[in-house]
Amino acid sequence: ATFGNLSARLTDTFKNLRSKGKLSASDVDSTVREIRRALLEADVALDVVKEFTGKVRERALGDEVNQALNPAQQVVQIVNEELVAILGGEQRRLQFAKNPPTIIMLAGLQGAGKTTLAGKLAKWLKDQGHTPLLVASDLQRPNAVTQLGVVAEQAGVAIFAPEPGNGVGDPVRVARDGVAEAKAKHYDFVIVDTAGRLGVDQELMQQAANIRKAVNPDEVLFVIDAMIGQDAVATAQAFQEGVDFTGVVLTKLDGDARGGAALSIRSVTGRPILFASTGEGLGDFEPFHPDRMASRILDLGDILTLIEQAQSAFDEEEARKVAEKIQKDQFTLDDFLGQMQQLRGAGSIKKMMGMLPGMGKMKDQLDNFDEREILRTEAIIQSMTKDERTNPKILNGSRRLRIARGSGMTVTDVNQLVQRFEQASKMMKTVARGGVPQIPGMGPM
Ligand code: GDP
Repeated sequence: ATFGNLSARLTDTFKNLRSKGKLSASDVDSTVREIRRALLEADVALDVVKEFTGKVRERALGDEVNQALNPAQQVVQIVNEELVAILGGEQRRLQFAKNPPTIIMLAGLQGAGKTTLAGKLAKWLKDQGHTPLLVASDLQRPNAVTQLGVVAEQAGVAIFAPEPGNGVGDPVRVARDGVAEAKAKHYDFVIVDTAGRLGVDQELMQQAANIRKAVNPDEVLFVIDAMIGQDAVATAQAFQEGVDFTGVVLTKLDGDARGGAALSIRSVTGRPILFASTGEGLGDFEPFHPDRMASRILDLGDILTLIEQAQSAFDEEEARKVAEKIQKDQFTLDDFLGQMQQLRGAGSIKKMMGMLPGMGKMKDQLDNFDEREILRTEAIIQSMTKDERTNPKILNGSRRLRIARGSGMTVTDVNQLVQRFEQASKMMKTVARGGVPQIPGMGPM
């Protein structure tokens, strides 16, 4: 799959790091060299590679790694963040016109996947309750209008096309008439498919530029085949000069492209990637999320593995035992305490949690995390009998009162702890099953 090699190379690089504790400057250098090689092999544009590795190196030599609980994990985190950044940072959504219809023009080389994309986009919009009209302004390719018709039918949307033999020469007029039709009939989106050529050529650019001028689109999407590798940069630049565009759509990400186009295009053009096309079917299409793509490249999807890795920063053997207990539903308050003590010993629960994907939202809660909370929790658990710790279900009112007195805390504190423990166990079970944890009011764990 796309990024397959890159992914494997990067993962290998990080595996070598993982066995090390503190990282020396030469560890960082050799890691950065490996990353550089992997990116170049993936056909990422040279300038982009230089900037990327420069940033990673600078950060990897800085305090955030030096003082990290697990330096290797921190380096992975940095690479992840920098990947997200070169892929565009935040997701960029489609811009809607203040006064419908919103006009979207597609541009790109022949074979890039424009016509297919027109159908995908139309279906996606229709599924959200919009009423898109497809406009066939690709009058170059003999079959293009028919193909758009087929796609429109599959998507169940309307199409505006010149009558066969009529107006054949003038794609600008078709585009303009199409928009007028959309206004008259109250379609809220217009998607204008335009002609492409096998290579960049002046006439093609002029035509696309004329269409752009005639219909003044809200979005001009440059459609690019991720498989074209190093040519992507030059092609994108030519379209930027000739027509300019507001956003990019990457197609054929389901193929085994090396990924260079995807990773270079944002930096080279300064334009965001809005959508990704991942197959020939109308449903093989998704809004582009830089963070998800970065996770996919780095193989961070497997949250379980990550937790394991993060835990191995403390004690691998222990982590394995805990994972086993969670799976067998035998995780007790004693284990809970053991985990917390280890975390405290290691200094920072924040760092560990921060490494897990999807934990960004919890940052505020983590920032409020108070180590004294651990001490209070410890006091409570230590006032419990062995039976109570193993099986918290037996904790009735009188037991809770006794524990509160023994630990110098209130019954409410005891109740809260038991509740948190239950939440934590539930969350860990979800994670163990491969789900994403939901942690209401995360307490110490
Ligand atoms: P256009 O010339 O830019 O309009 O390109 P088309 O939409 O005709 O697509 C060219 C070819 O690529 C067709 O055979 C499509 O089925 C195929 N195609 C388009 N998008 C994708 C994609 O995301 N993945 C794969 N595997 N094929 C695609």
